Formats: sequence, structure tokens, C-alpha cells
Amino acid sequence: MTRTPQDTADLYARHQAVLPSWLSLYYERPIELTHGEGRYVWDAEGNRYLDFFGGILTTMTAHALPEVTKAVGDQAGRIIHTSTLYLSRPMVELAERIAALSGIPDARVFFTTSGTEANDAALLLATTHRRSNQILAMRNSYHGRSFSTVGITGNTSWSPTSLSPLQTLYVHGGVRSRGPYAELGDAAYIAACVADLEDMLQQTAGGVAALIAEPIQGVGGFTLPPDGLYAAFREVLARHGILWISDEVQTGWGRTGDHFWGWQAHAASGPPDLLTFAKGIGNGMSIGGVVARAEVMNSLTANSISTFGGSPVTMAAGLANLNYLLEHDLQGNARRVGGLLIERLRAVTAGLDAVREVRGRGLMIGVELVRPGTEERSPEAASLVVEAARERGLLIGKGGQGGASLRIAPPMTLTVAEAEEGAELLAEALRAAQETLA
Ligand code: PLP
Repeated sequence: MTRTPQDTADLYARHQAVLPSWLSLYYERPIELTHGEGRYVWDAEGNRYLDFFGGILTTMTAHALPEVTKAVGDQAGRIIHTSTLYLSRPMVELAERIAALSGIPDARVFFTTSGTEANDAALLLATTHRRSNQILAMRNSYHGRSFSTVGITGNTSWSPTSLSPLQTLYVHGGVRSRGPYAELGDAAYIAACVADLEDMLQQTAGGVAALIAEPIQGVGGFTLPPDGLYAAFREVLARHGILWISDEVQTGWGRTGDHFWGWQAHAASGPPDLLTFAKGIGNGMSIGGVVARAEVMNSLTANSISTFGGSPVTMAAGLANLNYLLEHDLQGNARRVGGLLIERLRAVTAGLDAVREVRGRGLMIGVELVRPGTEERSPEAASLVVEAARERGLLIGKGGQGGASLRIAPPMTLTVAEAEEGAELLAEALRAAQETLA
């Protein structure tokens, strides 16, 4: 049934009346998405959009991928839920696959239902193992919206509370595009960040449990540290016995093209002690989790369950999705098509004063916007571009420092033709926004 704009407006009014004011909603006239296929989605009014945000990186392979929907339907027809009190074949199988892929020796996997809960579990494990509630986190980071994860999140737009149960120290290294370190080359930048970390540790009384970091900051605007930064950090952390948690909620599963996990850009360090994942693995089904060495995972001694973590339907989706990803080399596709998309975006935005930088790796691409002709970050420009892109049939995300970056992360089956179509639509939206700002 096709809806009218008034129907959508009515739904929006009901949403506002019953849901929290802080639950972020895109667009002046929010969209009700009703179905999708491949890299396209449709709204209730019948408009079609090229999806360059993939449900915030959750639609990893494609919308309505037959292999995944069949696995979900088949499993739901047998039994939807059992809980972790009983053996579950799909849960054991997916855990085996993820443990082997993680690179972590003697790995154990605990399934949750979101990235927030995965990081919460990782923090619980690390603080218990190390008997310390001190955590190192990166400036401009994002790790979730629970009490513990909001408390360590460095990006101030997403961290409304300072009443954290953890004591958090913020380290340099996640964003280099501005500030005193901006002009440094890779080696000098890494040296400066390591010196900052050493200095912080010298001034910190008591032990620190862990450093948690996103290999590429996601909500923070797809900002890339130089390769090797976390390997250099690891040397310092190891000297102090501090654990390294790699938050791979956005960077996992080959999305960055060059690597299956973001930590592999820092491979000289070996794998992290703990790795958290979520988003894409279920292609939209709620799967999160943490991988850790048995010694760390088993440092919790009290009994625990997860009522919904590892639910058979989500595990079946995860297995089917992972098989598709590996059989179709979607990591390779992310590298090739993502590389081409970055080049196209650089070309089409070359003359635009509002665009300060196009950065990214694979299919994680950020475009930082400024007030035209200045260096001042422009969240206003980002909002205008997101609206203008929607009018042209393209969905993109925004975020980053001050909310001034566009975020592009399409499903990893993106074709070359779709990449070119999206780059053209985005260029048109950028030109329209720039004219409005002038
Ligand atoms: N960690 C990172 C790096 C994220 O980007 C997010 C969500 O955007 C989370 C954790 C939280 O995941 P979720 O929204 O599934 O709770």
C-alpha cells in the first residue's frame, strides 16, 4: 500500500509523542523505509533511494539477500529462540568461524545483541581480569549508548554523561586532520601519540585495565590513523600489562577492503587481546559479540546467561551472511569498488570550496565539509547535503567532529555502476548545498 506524505507526517507526530527526543532521526521530513533489494531501498510513498549508508553499516551484503532471508525463514520455522541454557548448533558453528577468523589464539566468543553490549562485555572482562576500573579511550571515539560505553565515548556529541562507572583517560591518535599534530607525517605523528600515551601512563596512579579503540573511527567521521599506530601503542601497553580492545563494530568483515579486521592495518602488533563486533555480520539481524583469549574470557567466574545473545535465528543469518561474504570475496569488492568510489568522489568534488577532504578505506568513506572558503567545520553544510542527496534519491550518513562529515558506507556488493551513480548524485547535492550556503 502506497502512503501519502500526510500519512508519513502523521507517523512522525506519533513517533515524537511516544519515543525519546534524543533518539536521532534523519531529515526534516523523516523517511519510513518499507523494503529493499540489493543496494536500493524504497519508502512508504514509493520513492526509491540508492542506499549509501546500509542501515548504518548493518546491511553488509545486500538488502533482501535470498541466501540470508531463506536461512532466517527456515530457522524461524523450526524454532526461533532457545536461550544460552541449551546447546545450539548454529551458535557453536558461528562461534567457531569467528574464533578462527579473529586471529586471536585460543579464542572464545561471547554473543550479545548489539555493539554496545559487546563493548560493555569487553569492558567487564578487561576490568575484571586486570582488577582495575581505569580505561584508556581515544579522543573523538564512539563505543555505544549504555552507562559504561557512553561513559568512555570521547565524541562529545554522543557522550551526554560524565557519571561513568569507569575512570577514563583520553589518548591522541584517532583524528589527525586538525590541531597541533595535523601537520606531522606518519612516523612523527605515531611518535607524538606514543609519547602522549607514555606521559599519560606515567602520571596515572594504579593500573590501567585496557585501551579501547576503533581502528577507523566510525561515528567520529571515518578518520584514519596511520597504519602501524596501534602496533606502536601495543608495545607500550604490553610493558604495562594493559589489554588492547579493538572495537571492530564498523571496521570488521572486510569493509575496509585491505583487511578483514581493522586491527590488521597494525598487524606488526599481532592480534588485540579482545575484539568486539556487531553491525554487518547479521545483515541487519541483531548480533554483537566479543572475542578474547580463554584466559581473559574466563576471568568471570560467576554464572551468566544471555537470554537473546546467540539466538538461533540471528546465528543462522550470520552464518549465511558470512558464507556469502567469503564466497563472493566481498572484501576484494570493497577494496576495488571502494577505491574507485574514493577516486570518483575526489574528482567530482575537486572544485568545491565546501569540501575539505575526501578520506577513507574500502567502503568506509568520509567527506569533511567546511564553510566555503574557510577551515571552519560546517555541520550546516553536512545537513544541507544529506537533505539534498535525499531529494536526489541517495541516502548517506553524517557525523564526525562537530557533525561536519558525510559518511558513506554502502552494502559491500556495491557495483561499479552504482558507485558512479552515487558519486554523481552526491556531487549534485554538494553543489546545491554550496549554492545555498553562498
Ligand atoms: N562501537 C562502534 C565503533 C560503533 O560504531 C557503534 C554504533 O554505531 C557501537 C559500538 C554501538 O553499537 P550498537 O549501536 O549496535 O549498540
